[in-house]
Amino acid sequence: MLTHPRGPAGIVLGVGIATVDIIHEVAAYPAEDDEIRALAEDRRRGGNVANSLVILSQLGRRCRWVGTLADDAGADLILADLARFGVDTSAAVRVQAATTPTSFVLSSRASGSRTIVHYRDLPELDAESFDRVSLADLAWVHFEGRHPDATRRMIERVMHEAPGLPISLELEKPRTGIEDLLRGPRILMASRPFAIAQGFDEAEPFLVALAERSDATLITLTWGARGAYFLDRGGSIGRVPATPPSQVVDTLGAGDVFNAGLIDGLLRGLSAPAAVEAAVRLAGRKCAHRGLVVRP
Ligand code: ADP
Repeated sequence: MLTHPRGPAGIVLGVGIATVDIIHEVAAYPAEDDEIRALAEDRRRGGNVANSLVILSQLGRRCRWVGTLADDAGADLILADLARFGVDTSAAVRVQAATTPTSFVLSSRASGSRTIVHYRDLPELDAESFDRVSLADLAWVHFEGRHPDATRRMIERVMHEAPGLPISLELEKPRTGIEDLLRGPRILMASRPFAIAQGFDEAEPFLVALAERSDATLITLTWGARGAYFLDRGGSIGRVPATPPSQVVDTLGAGDVFNAGLIDGLLRGLSAPAAVEAAVRLAGRKCAHRGLVVRP
């Protein structure tokens, strides 16, 4: 049986997509049919799990990313960025004749908000490819809640081959079949748009309903500038208010930073409420900077 190193030696494996984000900063969000000029342009690697790994790496964790990559310049940008942060990409799967997924982001200086249009023409990672990824030396496996059929099989493989290895699942967007992923992961990390799409406009009933449909021991729900809610099974439901920096510069990726902070806190042995607090603080710090940096 595989053992699970919890200390800094243990690897956090992240399974998800990697994209190129093309970010245009605008003074204020345009009205429909407007034509406006951007104040700045930036091209960055995106993808929620990949973002979380870059943060975990800055926190001193060993990280490995697995997902699909096209064979184009966008893929080179992705690999170079992950290498810059020391994230191991040796398990990534190259797909010929595909295009790197792109996210077009409008970032408003007036509000700090970001609006995203996503384009993809790249197959998702399949379960057979994931079967070839080693589970040795892992401390944690974190999945994006997408491509439910394949992800269900990946989760089952981890539970079967590495029982006891903590599994977390991000629930960012509603997807057909996502319900099939709720049994198995120890931690569910939901976002406000996911809760709203499920018909909830309040956090507590959403958390209670999700707890009934899953066996997770901790469910979190991020809610932008309001902070994060959590349900600690056997414990309580709570909210940790956001810790806004003196100036909110960029909230893009705040949820991914939160997820990284949560994984790191739990790996450090913090209690669920303390780990949520640490994650909220880390996400707040990120909002003071452009990009995925978590400077003190
Ligand atoms: P996403 O990146 O998915 O849109 P959220 O907007 O829900 O994620 O934010 C994730 C976390 O980041 C929140 O729970 C909160 O702790 C923090 N956060 C987000 N926006 C702000 C803000 N304006 N000020 C301080 N913290 C924020």
